[in-house]
Amino acid sequence: MREFDFVSIGGGSGGIATMNRASEYGAKTAVIESNLLGGTCVNIGCVPKKIMWYAASVKDAISKYGPDYGFTSKETEFDFQTLLKNREAYIDRSRNSYQAGFERRNVEVIEGHARFIDAHTLEVNGEEIRAKHILIATGAKPSYPDIPGKELGETSDDFFAWEELPKKVAVVGAGYIAVELAGVMHTLGTDVHLFTRYDRPLRSYQSEIVQVLLDEMEKDGPTFRGYSTPQEVKENSDGTFNLLFEDGYSDNFDKVIWAIGREANVDSLNLEAAGVQTDLYGFIEVDDYQNTSTDHVYAVGDVAGKHMLTPVAIAAGRRLSERLFNNKPNEKLDYHNIPTVIFSHPPIGTIGLTEEQAIEQYGQAQVKTYSSTFGSMYTAVTEHRQSVKMMLICQGPDEQVVGLHGIGFGVDEMIQGFAVAIKIGATKADFDNTVAIHPTGAEEFVTMR
Ligand code: FAD
Ligand code: NDP
Repeated sequence: MREFDFVSIGGGSGGIATMNRASEYGAKTAVIESNLLGGTCVNIGCVPKKIMWYAASVKDAISKYGPDYGFTSKETEFDFQTLLKNREAYIDRSRNSYQAGFERRNVEVIEGHARFIDAHTLEVNGEEIRAKHILIATGAKPSYPDIPGKELGETSDDFFAWEELPKKVAVVGAGYIAVELAGVMHTLGTDVHLFTRYDRPLRSYQSEIVQVLLDEMEKDGPTFRGYSTPQEVKENSDGTFNLLFEDGYSDNFDKVIWAIGREANVDSLNLEAAGVQTDLYGFIEVDDYQNTSTDHVYAVGDVAGKHMLTPVAIAAGRRLSERLFNNKPNEKLDYHNIPTVIFSHPPIGTIGLTEEQAIEQYGQAQVKTYSSTFGSMYTAVTEHRQSVKMMLICQGPDEQVVGLHGIGFGVDEMIQGFAVAIKIGATKADFDNTVAIHPTGAEEFVTMR
């Protein structure tokens, strides 16, 4: 039996950040990981996804926009194996840097699957691990629809293991993952069909921004079909899959991807032994301080189901360790105004409230929306012109900016600084008083009228 001050079940973004921070204050810590260190983000999430997105952007630069800039080689030879080799080498280096960080801070790594024996004791590989505090940071896994043949479909986890790109793929779902994977595969040359249950993907985002994405899809692909709820998948004799929808529409695909959301990884934790409660959807219930229903047991990251983003898991975990081991009893993550980017083609950036949410919160009379649509300069000299749309949602007589949304070339790298401004309560006048950087797309955010 080994004993620790603080142990994390899960060595993903949340677990690693929390244990690293606690050990910096002298706590004796361990990370228990049943699979690969780094968790979803590094191995099968943000990192490989972003590299694929960059690959798609490189392809666009060469073959879509390049010719009108005078680079005339339209045919680009693309070796998927080279991309995979370099992507995986980068991921390996990231994993090694985690290991080095643990060694520097004396965080112990325990390989194996953990389950609760009681609120202070875990069982891993037959050994008892005792800890004063236990963190649940076990993340989430992809959901499958409850339809016949669901197991014939794959998920984002499988996508990152593909050795080659299929010719024709159905992506079913309406969130980040559906939109991002559809965009990447389409740009890299796969015939992609995106299916959503309702009229559009990303329904909770600012609708005018999503409309620009839909317009781009209409112009340039992938093929989009709304009001398509999957009903059944069957395997054809040639190894392709027939996907049937409730309205009777069907088509054959080399692969079907479910991207319909993610559920908490809690099934084999034996939570009952520790008395830890989950909510209606199976996510671990936590209060504002990441406390679960059991004293000394905490949860951060995807398993707690709130803003399933890597920086959120990291920020919540670090603050928890500050609270427990650095004498900061009030330290907690403020979950308001969390900026996020959807790596679609073109990318979408968003902070704070949509117009609809602002009206609901402050009343119609208090809300004023500014918006601007223009052609991205990068694409303007080419035959593939692309729009940029930016919106500011302001509230109250001071016009405090409570929402900022954009879609277009470069928006992914634009919004982090604006998130700082919004966090400290900037008003439209503060934006206007900021001198623009010209010529950029970002300047539009400070020149809107
Ligand atoms: P995870 O990173 O999932 O780590 C949990 C770890 O716990 C896993 O390694 C798992 O093996 C381990 N584990 C589970 N059960 C046990 C057990 N019983 N015992 C031991 N170990 C266990 N977020 C962004 O911010 N930006 C992005 O661009 C982005 N892109 C994404 C793309 C995809 C395709 C996906 C799927 C997610 C993406 N995310 C992105 C979300 C991000 O990956 C997650 O929010 C983040 O990884 C959550 O971290 P976590 O520590 O909560 O969980
Ligand atoms: P999301 O929860 O974002 O979206 C899934 C959507 O799929 C639902 O909102 C729903 O939309 C639709 N859906 C649900 N059930 C079904 C069904 N049975 N059939 C068809 N469609 C269905 O999930 P994702 O898997 O895309 O991503 C999970 C989380 O991971 C994200 O919320 C995000 O936090 C994180 N992530 C972040 C990224 C980033 O930062 N760039 C990238 C990727 C993931 P509707 O109701 O409209 O049908």
